[in-house]
Amino acid sequence: MSETVNQGVKSVPEYFGCNVFNKETMKERLPKNVYKSLLKTQELGVALDVDVAEVIANSMKEWAVEKGATHYTHWFHPMTGITAEKHDSFISPTSDGKVIMEFSGKELIKGEPDASSFPSGGLRATFEARGYTAWDPTSPAFVKDGSLYIPTAFCSYTGEILDKKTPLLRSMDVVSEQAIRVLRLFGNTTATRVTTTVGPEQEYFLVDKKLYDQRRDLILTGRTLFGAKAPKGQELEDHYFGNIKERVSAYMKDLDEELWKLGILAKTKHNEVAPAQHELAPIFATSNVASDQNALTMEIMKKTALKHGLVCLLHEKPFAGVNGSGKHNNWSISTNDGQNLLDPGENPKDNIQFLTFLVAVIKAVNNYSDLLRLSVASAGNDHRLGANEAPPAIVSIFLGDEIQTILDALETGKMITTNKDKEFVIGVDALPNFPKDTTDRNRTSPFAFTGNKFEFRALGSADSIACTNMILNTIVAHVLKEFADKLENSKDFSSDLNKLLIETIKENKRVIFNGNGYDESWVEEAKRRGLPNLVSTVDAVPHYSDDKNVAIFEEFKVLTRTEIESRQEILLENYSKIINIEALTMVDMARKQIIPAGLEFTKSLADAMVAKKSLGVNFDAEKALIDKASCLTNSILEATDALDSKLLEVKNYEDGEPAARYYRDVVFAAMQSLRAVVDELETIAPEKMWPFPTYADLLFRV
Ligand code: ADP
Ligand code: MG
Repeated sequence: MSETVNQGVKSVPEYFGCNVFNKETMKERLPKNVYKSLLKTQELGVALDVDVAEVIANSMKEWAVEKGATHYTHWFHPMTGITAEKHDSFISPTSDGKVIMEFSGKELIKGEPDASSFPSGGLRATFEARGYTAWDPTSPAFVKDGSLYIPTAFCSYTGEILDKKTPLLRSMDVVSEQAIRVLRLFGNTTATRVTTTVGPEQEYFLVDKKLYDQRRDLILTGRTLFGAKAPKGQELEDHYFGNIKERVSAYMKDLDEELWKLGILAKTKHNEVAPAQHELAPIFATSNVASDQNALTMEIMKKTALKHGLVCLLHEKPFAGVNGSGKHNNWSISTNDGQNLLDPGENPKDNIQFLTFLVAVIKAVNNYSDLLRLSVASAGNDHRLGANEAPPAIVSIFLGDEIQTILDALETGKMITTNKDKEFVIGVDALPNFPKDTTDRNRTSPFAFTGNKFEFRALGSADSIACTNMILNTIVAHVLKEFADKLENSKDFSSDLNKLLIETIKENKRVIFNGNGYDESWVEEAKRRGLPNLVSTVDAVPHYSDDKNVAIFEEFKVLTRTEIESRQEILLENYSKIINIEALTMVDMARKQIIPAGLEFTKSLADAMVAKKSLGVNFDAEKALIDKASCLTNSILEATDALDSKLLEVKNYEDGEPAARYYRDVVFAAMQSLRAVVDELETIAPEKMWPFPTYADLLFRV
């Protein structure tokens, strides 16, 4: 029997995680020694014994069957950006014509999905189509829709990585290793593992399913490709944190419950800036679990919406003219002896350690901002970045006054005054306590220090967080390694550390910007500072394979050059495909729906004109409107044909960057021209003649 949760009877703590093979369940069901070795694997990243897997598999199966599962699936994250699954049943025939439910250690550890249809960026041209999935014991298995879901990594027959999870796991290992080296220098002998933690805040829109079904653009591309502005937008700011409509609130409640059953710590929910826009934030988890859970969250968000007659839009820019949706990636590093390394802490010794890690992050972001930028690059996110609703495409760091004052003092070696006029000396062993930054949060900064973590705000709402965190972990590991290499042989640790920090601040402070990131003058200022401004996906993505970037991925064996090049190709290909689908959808909607509506409108005006003329009645209104409508309909026809012909010319451009650039510079521009005339016609056409729901319907009728 499937576990039906009756919330009236069961309390949240009782049903939280009931569909997850979590620690509690494992402890209950696994032999002690098996449980212990699995814990070791989960907490320390130690490889798991094969015999142990056999026992775990059997126990997992029994648990899942009790939950009503009949199948299992290796769940993975191919480069499509969405998760993939193939379900096998547990049944195994017996000699008497019946079946038993079986699941072996081998089946738990390894799967062989047909990999030929997953994007490989050319990797598989020379290799076999086969791919393997490998169990990731660090992310818990769960039961959903009658199947046992086993989180896995995905690679090709010859070992090339084909997914988003494997490099993330590797990056977690390398940052742990290097952070531990640095911690040892500070005399820490207890920490054995450092993990990066992530709390992704997820924005989304809800629209009515019946209205959604009438818009081909939403169905095919996830965003509106046409649509005149509604008379009301977000200008009154009456939606942000406003009270939640009943229907939305029922959805959110249902969603929370579904997520809690899957062990996802959904914590906050509120209305966002744009009408019909909302946010969900979980409590943070280790990077790979957060990444898995965010993927699962997005799926459950969409599914749950349907149950409420709603559609959840995760696109970064579903509507022009109102804010789009992002995903804030709150990121920190903590030790298994209980310290958050980005927490300023209570005593001076912790402070200097904190400053060391802080400065390492600053250097990493300064030297590899191109990687961070490209980790959030997508056709959808291009609409947001730099559009004064999300941080600009220039990656800079906000520290806040408090921390800035301390860094300045450290850099100049001077006495400084706090904002409370308290004087203190910055010296290696004598750093004073300082309060956490209490200044107003700077919402315009892409990479902000927020008290005990960094918040990277440039991610798009639809994207996986795996790539960004893989990059963050790797670039920080790289700087920590440099620090450790320098300091491990130091004869005077305090003074050498001091020198290193001063030098690092000096060399990297150009990336720190505490001002308004939406201000136009910042673009100029950033240019003067030499910070990259990679405006669009096609500007950013080609930097993946820059030598300096390949070097760090290869240094830590997170990705090989071949794998990076394949990822780069997939990203550019995806970009081109998306614009292509959007353009084709526009052409289709224009020809089948919009032009006919324009013609019908002009015909109705012409008919009225003829009738009035025969009656000798003034027909100035019809005349004025018919001129406008027929002019616009002509322009729409022209713009549609122009877009269509531009699409045909794509074949003259090589795949990859040249094609992607063509889509950005030529096709996208033609799409904008078509949209402009269609939106204008919409503003004069009668509502009953307009072929699909308007912005006012979509945004205000949930
Ligand atoms: P905001 O003001 O941006 O809403 P919150 O303090 O509510 O900030 O935190 C937002 C997110 O940051 C939450 O998902 C939270 O779990 C996460 N977070 C808090 N501490 C950490 C940490 N140490 N590591 C990673 N994420 C964290
Ligand atoms: Mg936030």
